[in-house]
Amino acid sequence: MLKKKILITGGAGFLGSHLCDRLLGEGHEVICLDNYFTGQKQNVVHLLGNPYFELIRHDVTMPFFIEVDEIYNLACPASPIHYQYNAIKTVKTSVMGAINMLGLAKRIKARILQASTSEVYGDPEVHPQVESYWGHVNPIGIRSCYDEGKRIAETLFVNYHQQNNVRIKIMRIFNTYGPRMHPHDGRVVSNFIVQALKGEDMTIYGDGSQSRSFCYVDDLLDGMVRLMNSREEFTGPVNIGNPNEFTMIELAEKVIRLTGSKSKIIFLPLPEDDPAHRQPDITLAKKELGWEPKVMLDDGLVKTIDYFKSVI
Ligand code: NAD
Ligand code: UDP
Repeated sequence: MLKKKILITGGAGFLGSHLCDRLLGEGHEVICLDNYFTGQKQNVVHLLGNPYFELIRHDVTMPFFIEVDEIYNLACPASPIHYQYNAIKTVKTSVMGAINMLGLAKRIKARILQASTSEVYGDPEVHPQVESYWGHVNPIGIRSCYDEGKRIAETLFVNYHQQNNVRIKIMRIFNTYGPRMHPHDGRVVSNFIVQALKGEDMTIYGDGSQSRSFCYVDDLLDGMVRLMNSREEFTGPVNIGNPNEFTMIELAEKVIRLTGSKSKIIFLPLPEDDPAHRQPDITLAKKELGWEPKVMLDDGLVKTIDYFKSVI
Protein backbone atom coordinates (compact mmCIF):
# COMPACT_ATOMS: atom_id res chain seq x y z
CA MET A 1 0.00 0.00 0.00
CA LEU A 2 1.12 3.53 -0.76
CA LYS A 3 2.40 5.30 2.36
CA LYS A 4 0.84 8.76 2.56
CA LYS A 5 1.64 11.91 4.55
CA ILE A 6 -1.59 12.99 6.23
CA LEU A 7 -2.47 16.16 8.15
CA ILE A 8 -5.26 15.93 10.73
CA THR A 9 -6.49 19.25 12.12
CA GLY A 10 -8.20 18.81 15.50
CA GLY A 11 -6.15 15.62 15.78
CA ALA A 12 -5.95 15.71 19.59
CA GLY A 13 -9.73 15.66 19.97
CA PHE A 14 -12.12 12.76 20.38
CA LEU A 15 -12.52 11.76 16.72
CA GLY A 16 -9.15 13.14 15.60
CA SER A 17 -7.11 11.08 18.05
CA HIS A 18 -8.83 7.85 16.95
CA LEU A 19 -8.16 8.86 13.36
CA CYS A 20 -4.43 9.34 14.18
CA ASP A 21 -4.36 5.80 15.63
CA ARG A 22 -6.12 4.36 12.64
CA LEU A 23 -4.04 6.01 9.91
CA LEU A 24 -0.74 5.25 11.68
CA GLY A 25 -1.99 1.66 12.02
CA GLU A 26 -2.48 1.58 8.26
CA GLY A 27 1.19 2.54 7.81
CA HIS A 28 0.83 6.25 6.98
CA GLU A 29 2.72 9.24 8.35
CA VAL A 30 0.48 11.48 10.47
CA ILE A 31 0.83 15.14 11.41
CA CYS A 32 -1.59 16.10 14.17
CA LEU A 33 -2.36 19.81 14.45
CA ASP A 34 -4.35 21.15 17.41
CA ASN A 35 -4.66 24.22 19.64
CA TYR A 36 -5.92 22.06 22.55
CA PHE A 37 -9.11 24.08 23.00
CA THR A 38 -11.22 20.98 23.59
CA GLY A 39 -8.68 18.31 22.73
CA GLN A 40 -6.00 17.02 25.03
CA LYS A 41 -2.39 15.87 24.67
CA GLN A 42 -3.49 12.91 26.76
CA ASN A 43 -5.46 11.59 23.76
CA VAL A 44 -2.31 11.24 21.65
CA VAL A 45 0.44 10.89 24.26
CA HIS A 46 0.70 7.16 23.49
CA LEU A 47 1.75 8.07 19.93
CA LEU A 48 4.62 10.41 20.82
CA GLY A 49 7.26 7.68 20.56
CA ASN A 50 6.18 6.78 17.03
CA PRO A 51 8.66 8.27 14.50
CA TYR A 52 5.86 8.56 11.93
CA PHE A 53 3.75 10.78 14.22
CA GLU A 54 4.22 14.54 14.66
CA LEU A 55 2.28 16.78 17.06
CA ILE A 56 2.01 20.50 16.31
CA ARG A 57 0.35 23.19 18.44
CA HIS A 58 -1.32 25.54 15.98
CA ASP A 59 -4.60 27.38 15.56
CA VAL A 60 -6.33 26.78 12.19
CA THR A 61 -7.49 30.39 12.07
CA MET A 62 -3.86 31.18 11.20
CA PRO A 63 -2.31 30.02 7.88
CA PHE A 64 -0.24 26.85 8.02
CA PHE A 65 2.17 25.47 5.42
CA ILE A 66 3.20 21.87 4.98
CA GLU A 67 3.57 19.26 2.23
CA VAL A 68 1.08 16.42 2.62
CA ASP A 69 -1.03 14.12 0.42
CA GLU A 70 -4.27 14.40 2.40
CA ILE A 71 -5.90 16.75 4.92
CA TYR A 72 -8.66 15.76 7.33
CA ASN A 73 -10.13 19.04 8.61
CA LEU A 74 -11.63 18.23 12.01
CA ALA A 75 -10.62 21.30 14.03
CA CYS A 76 -13.72 22.78 15.67
CA PRO A 77 -15.29 22.41 19.11
CA ALA A 78 -18.19 19.99 18.72
CA SER A 79 -20.22 20.02 21.92
CA PRO A 80 -22.81 22.78 22.46
CA ILE A 81 -21.27 24.07 25.72
CA HIS A 82 -17.84 24.31 24.11
CA TYR A 83 -18.88 25.87 20.81
CA GLN A 84 -21.14 28.37 22.61
CA TYR A 85 -18.37 29.36 25.07
CA ASN A 86 -16.84 31.68 22.47
CA ALA A 87 -19.27 31.83 19.56
CA ILE A 88 -17.18 34.25 17.47
CA LYS A 89 -14.14 32.01 17.79
CA THR A 90 -16.26 29.03 16.71
CA VAL A 91 -17.29 30.83 13.52
CA LYS A 92 -13.67 31.86 12.89
CA THR A 93 -12.46 28.30 13.41
CA SER A 94 -14.96 26.89 10.91
CA VAL A 95 -14.68 29.65 8.31
CA MET A 96 -11.05 30.83 8.53
CA GLY A 97 -9.96 27.26 9.26
CA ALA A 98 -11.67 26.10 6.07
CA ILE A 99 -10.15 28.96 4.04
CA ASN A 100 -6.65 28.26 5.37
CA MET A 101 -6.86 24.51 4.83
CA LEU A 102 -8.47 24.82 1.39
CA GLY A 103 -5.78 27.32 0.37
CA LEU A 104 -3.17 24.83 1.49
CA ALA A 105 -4.90 21.94 -0.33
CA LYS A 106 -5.03 24.08 -3.47
CA ARG A 107 -1.31 24.89 -3.36
CA ILE A 108 -0.11 21.37 -2.64
CA LYS A 109 -2.87 19.57 -4.61
CA ALA A 110 -3.88 17.49 -1.60
CA ARG A 111 -7.22 15.79 -1.10
CA ILE A 112 -9.14 17.46 1.72
CA LEU A 113 -12.01 16.10 3.81
CA GLN A 114 -14.29 18.36 5.80
CA ALA A 115 -15.83 17.10 9.05
CA SER A 116 -19.24 18.67 8.53
CA THR A 117 -22.25 17.84 10.64
CA SER A 118 -25.89 16.83 10.79
CA GLU A 119 -26.34 20.30 12.34
CA VAL A 120 -26.39 21.71 8.80
CA TYR A 121 -29.97 20.33 8.76
CA GLY A 122 -30.80 22.34 11.94
CA ASP A 123 -34.10 21.30 13.52
CA PRO A 124 -35.12 19.21 10.49
CA GLU A 125 -38.55 19.17 8.89
CA VAL A 126 -37.58 16.18 6.74
CA HIS A 127 -37.09 12.86 8.50
CA PRO A 128 -34.83 10.95 8.12
CA GLN A 129 -32.44 13.52 6.69
CA VAL A 130 -31.25 13.04 3.11
CA GLU A 131 -28.29 14.94 1.68
CA SER A 132 -30.53 16.83 -0.76
CA TYR A 133 -32.45 18.45 2.15
CA TRP A 134 -31.37 22.09 2.62
CA GLY A 135 -32.07 22.23 6.33
CA HIS A 136 -33.95 24.38 8.82
CA VAL A 137 -31.39 26.46 10.68
CA ASN A 138 -31.89 29.52 12.88
CA PRO A 139 -29.21 31.99 11.71
CA ILE A 140 -29.25 34.01 14.96
CA GLY A 141 -29.79 31.43 17.70
CA ILE A 142 -27.45 29.93 20.27
CA ARG A 143 -26.46 27.07 17.95
CA SER A 144 -25.91 29.31 14.89
CA CYS A 145 -22.18 29.87 15.38
CA TYR A 146 -21.67 26.14 14.91
CA ASP A 147 -24.43 25.35 12.40
CA GLU A 148 -23.85 28.35 10.13
CA GLY A 149 -20.05 28.08 10.49
CA LYS A 150 -20.24 24.51 9.23
CA ARG A 151 -22.67 25.48 6.45
CA ILE A 152 -20.38 28.22 5.12
CA ALA A 153 -17.46 25.79 5.38
CA GLU A 154 -19.38 23.43 3.07
CA THR A 155 -19.98 26.36 0.70
CA LEU A 156 -16.26 27.17 0.68
CA PHE A 157 -15.37 23.55 -0.02
CA VAL A 158 -17.73 23.41 -2.99
CA ASN A 159 -16.52 26.80 -4.29
CA TYR A 160 -12.82 25.83 -4.05
CA HIS A 161 -13.69 22.63 -5.89
CA GLN A 162 -15.59 24.41 -8.65
CA GLN A 163 -13.27 27.41 -9.06
CA ASN A 164 -9.89 25.85 -8.31
CA ASN A 165 -10.36 22.10 -8.84
CA VAL A 166 -9.51 21.38 -5.21
CA ARG A 167 -10.11 17.69 -4.50
CA ILE A 168 -12.77 17.80 -1.78
CA LYS A 169 -14.83 15.38 0.32
CA ILE A 170 -17.65 16.60 2.56
CA MET A 171 -18.82 14.31 5.36
CA ARG A 172 -21.94 15.09 7.40
CA ILE A 173 -21.28 13.44 10.74
CA PHE A 174 -24.22 12.49 12.96
CA ASN A 175 -23.93 12.11 16.77
CA THR A 176 -20.90 9.94 17.49
CA TYR A 177 -19.75 8.54 20.83
CA GLY A 178 -17.00 6.37 22.27
CA PRO A 179 -13.85 6.32 24.39
CA ARG A 180 -11.92 9.65 24.68
CA MET A 181 -15.03 11.82 24.70
CA HIS A 182 -14.20 14.56 27.18
CA PRO A 183 -15.90 13.75 30.52
CA HIS A 184 -17.02 17.39 30.90
CA ASP A 185 -17.89 18.19 27.32
CA GLY A 186 -21.60 18.15 28.05
CA ARG A 187 -22.71 15.83 25.26
CA VAL A 188 -25.48 13.49 26.22
CA VAL A 189 -23.66 10.14 26.08
CA SER A 190 -20.69 11.32 28.15
CA ASN A 191 -22.95 13.22 30.58
CA PHE A 192 -25.22 10.23 31.24
CA ILE A 193 -22.35 7.76 31.65
CA VAL A 194 -20.35 10.03 33.99
CA GLN A 195 -23.48 10.82 36.04
CA ALA A 196 -24.44 7.12 36.25
CA LEU A 197 -20.95 6.04 37.29
CA LYS A 198 -20.76 8.74 39.97
CA GLY A 199 -24.28 7.99 41.23
CA GLU A 200 -25.36 11.56 40.41
CA ASP A 201 -28.76 12.57 39.03
CA MET A 202 -29.06 11.99 35.29
CA THR A 203 -30.04 15.23 33.59
CA ILE A 204 -32.61 14.92 30.83
CA TYR A 205 -33.27 18.22 29.08
CA GLY A 206 -36.94 18.77 28.24
CA ASP A 207 -39.27 15.79 28.52
CA GLY A 208 -36.72 13.39 27.00
CA SER A 209 -38.86 12.58 23.96
CA GLN A 210 -36.33 14.20 21.59
CA SER A 211 -34.35 11.64 19.64
CA ARG A 212 -30.85 11.15 18.26
CA SER A 213 -29.12 8.37 16.32
CA PHE A 214 -25.79 7.39 17.88
CA CYS A 215 -22.85 6.05 15.91
CA TYR A 216 -19.90 4.29 17.55
CA VAL A 217 -16.54 5.94 16.82
CA ASP A 218 -15.00 2.90 15.03
CA ASP A 219 -17.89 2.76 12.55
CA LEU A 220 -17.68 6.50 11.97
CA LEU A 221 -13.95 6.41 11.21
CA ASP A 222 -14.43 3.52 8.84
CA GLY A 223 -16.86 5.74 6.89
CA MET A 224 -14.47 8.71 7.07
CA VAL A 225 -11.49 6.83 5.65
CA ARG A 226 -13.65 5.21 2.96
CA LEU A 227 -14.85 8.66 1.94
CA MET A 228 -11.31 10.03 1.70
CA ASN A 229 -10.35 7.05 -0.48
CA SER A 230 -13.48 7.16 -2.64
CA ARG A 231 -13.42 7.80 -6.39
CA GLU A 232 -12.14 11.30 -7.32
CA GLU A 233 -15.48 12.57 -8.72
CA PHE A 234 -17.40 11.73 -5.53
CA THR A 235 -17.21 14.86 -3.38
CA GLY A 236 -20.26 14.35 -1.13
CA PRO A 237 -21.82 15.71 0.97
CA VAL A 238 -22.56 12.30 2.40
CA ASN A 239 -24.26 11.41 5.69
CA ILE A 240 -22.29 9.14 7.99
CA GLY A 241 -24.15 8.03 11.11
CA ASN A 242 -26.13 5.20 12.62
CA PRO A 243 -29.81 5.22 11.57
CA ASN A 244 -30.99 3.53 14.81
CA GLU A 245 -32.87 6.27 16.61
CA PHE A 246 -33.44 6.53 20.39
CA THR A 247 -35.16 9.04 22.66
CA MET A 248 -33.12 10.57 25.47
CA ILE A 249 -35.29 8.66 27.98
CA GLU A 250 -34.43 5.38 26.23
CA LEU A 251 -30.74 6.32 26.26
CA ALA A 252 -30.82 7.20 29.99
CA GLU A 253 -32.54 3.89 30.80
CA LYS A 254 -29.96 1.94 28.79
CA VAL A 255 -27.08 3.65 30.59
CA ILE A 256 -28.68 2.94 33.99
CA ARG A 257 -29.14 -0.74 33.06
CA LEU A 258 -25.63 -1.17 31.64
CA THR A 259 -23.87 0.54 34.55
CA GLY A 260 -26.15 -0.93 37.25
CA SER A 261 -26.36 2.62 38.60
CA LYS A 262 -28.74 3.80 41.33
CA SER A 263 -28.87 7.30 39.79
CA LYS A 264 -32.28 8.81 39.31
CA ILE A 265 -33.47 10.75 36.28
CA ILE A 266 -34.26 14.45 36.66
CA PHE A 267 -35.73 16.79 34.06
CA LEU A 268 -34.14 20.19 33.29
CA PRO A 269 -35.25 22.88 30.81
CA LEU A 270 -34.70 22.11 27.14
CA PRO A 271 -32.02 24.38 25.60
CA GLU A 272 -33.16 26.81 22.90
CA ASP A 273 -33.29 25.45 19.32
CA ASP A 274 -32.58 21.88 20.45
CA PRO A 275 -33.47 19.70 17.41
CA ALA A 276 -36.46 17.42 18.14
CA HIS A 277 -35.32 14.50 16.01
CA ARG A 278 -32.33 13.45 14.01
CA GLN A 279 -31.72 10.37 11.92
CA PRO A 280 -29.44 9.93 8.91
CA ASP A 281 -30.59 8.45 5.63
CA ILE A 282 -27.45 6.48 4.70
CA THR A 283 -28.53 5.23 1.26
CA LEU A 284 -25.82 7.31 -0.43
CA ALA A 285 -23.04 6.08 1.91
CA LYS A 286 -24.09 2.48 1.29
CA LYS A 287 -24.08 2.98 -2.47
CA GLU A 288 -20.92 5.08 -2.89
CA LEU A 289 -18.77 3.84 -0.03
CA GLY A 290 -20.17 0.36 0.62
CA TRP A 291 -20.45 1.56 4.21
CA GLU A 292 -22.92 0.96 6.99
CA PRO A 293 -22.46 0.93 10.77
CA LYS A 294 -21.99 -2.41 12.53
CA VAL A 295 -21.82 -1.63 16.25
CA MET A 296 -25.11 -1.80 18.17
CA LEU A 297 -25.73 0.95 20.72
CA ASP A 298 -25.58 -1.44 23.71
CA ASP A 299 -22.19 -2.82 22.62
CA GLY A 300 -20.73 0.63 21.96
CA LEU A 301 -22.05 1.91 25.28
CA VAL A 302 -20.38 -0.97 27.17
CA LYS A 303 -16.99 -0.06 25.61
CA THR A 304 -17.54 3.63 26.38
CA ILE A 305 -18.60 2.89 29.97
CA ASP A 306 -15.41 0.82 30.46
CA TYR A 307 -13.37 3.78 29.22
CA PHE A 308 -15.05 6.26 31.59
CA LYS A 309 -14.58 3.83 34.50
CA SER A 310 -10.84 4.04 33.82
CA VAL A 311 -10.68 7.86 33.72
CA ILE A 312 -13.06 9.15 36.41
P1 NAD B 1 -13.49 17.56 19.86
O1 NAD B 1 -13.88 18.83 20.51
O2 NAD B 1 -13.08 16.42 20.73
O3 NAD B 1 -12.32 17.78 18.81
C1 NAD B 1 -12.12 18.99 18.13
C2 NAD B 1 -10.62 19.27 18.14
O4 NAD B 1 -10.37 20.49 17.42
C3 NAD B 1 -10.07 19.48 19.55
O5 NAD B 1 -8.89 18.72 19.72
C4 NAD B 1 -9.79 20.98 19.63
O6 NAD B 1 -8.77 21.32 20.53
C5 NAD B 1 -9.46 21.28 18.18
N1 NAD B 1 -9.66 22.69 17.81
C6 NAD B 1 -10.74 23.48 18.09
N2 NAD B 1 -10.56 24.71 17.60
C7 NAD B 1 -9.33 24.69 16.99
C8 NAD B 1 -8.57 25.68 16.30
N3 NAD B 1 -9.03 26.94 16.13
N4 NAD B 1 -7.35 25.34 15.82
C9 NAD B 1 -6.86 24.08 15.99
N5 NAD B 1 -7.54 23.11 16.64
C10 NAD B 1 -8.75 23.43 17.13
O7 NAD B 1 -14.71 17.13 18.92
P2 NAD B 1 -14.93 15.82 18.03
O8 NAD B 1 -16.18 15.18 18.49
O9 NAD B 1 -13.70 15.03 17.94
O10 NAD B 1 -15.26 16.50 16.62
C11 NAD B 1 -14.30 16.55 15.57
C12 NAD B 1 -14.95 17.17 14.35
O11 NAD B 1 -16.07 16.40 13.93
C13 NAD B 1 -15.45 18.59 14.58
O12 NAD B 1 -15.19 19.36 13.42
C14 NAD B 1 -16.94 18.40 14.76
O13 NAD B 1 -17.66 19.55 14.38
C15 NAD B 1 -17.22 17.22 13.85
N6 NAD B 1 -18.42 16.50 14.29
C16 NAD B 1 -18.41 15.69 15.39
C17 NAD B 1 -19.57 15.04 15.79
C18 NAD B 1 -19.60 14.12 16.98
O14 NAD B 1 -20.68 13.61 17.30
N7 NAD B 1 -18.52 13.82 17.63
C19 NAD B 1 -20.76 15.24 15.07
C20 NAD B 1 -20.74 16.09 13.97
C21 NAD B 1 -19.57 16.70 13.57
N1 UDP C 1 -29.17 16.21 26.52
C1 UDP C 1 -29.79 15.79 27.68
N2 UDP C 1 -29.05 15.76 28.82
C2 UDP C 1 -27.73 16.08 28.86
C3 UDP C 1 -27.09 16.50 27.66
C4 UDP C 1 -27.85 16.56 26.49
O1 UDP C 1 -30.99 15.46 27.70
O2 UDP C 1 -27.13 16.01 29.94
C5 UDP C 1 -29.96 16.21 25.26
C6 UDP C 1 -29.86 17.49 24.44
O3 UDP C 1 -30.82 18.42 24.89
C7 UDP C 1 -30.15 16.97 23.04
C8 UDP C 1 -29.58 15.55 23.06
O4 UDP C 1 -29.44 15.20 24.43
O5 UDP C 1 -31.53 16.89 22.81
C9 UDP C 1 -28.22 15.44 22.37
O6 UDP C 1 -27.38 16.44 22.91
P1 UDP C 1 -25.84 16.56 22.53
O7 UDP C 1 -25.34 17.81 23.17
O8 UDP C 1 -25.13 15.29 22.85
O9 UDP C 1 -25.80 16.68 20.93
P2 UDP C 1 -26.62 17.56 19.87
O10 UDP C 1 -27.73 18.31 20.54
O11 UDP C 1 -25.62 18.45 19.27
O12 UDP C 1 -27.16 16.53 18.95
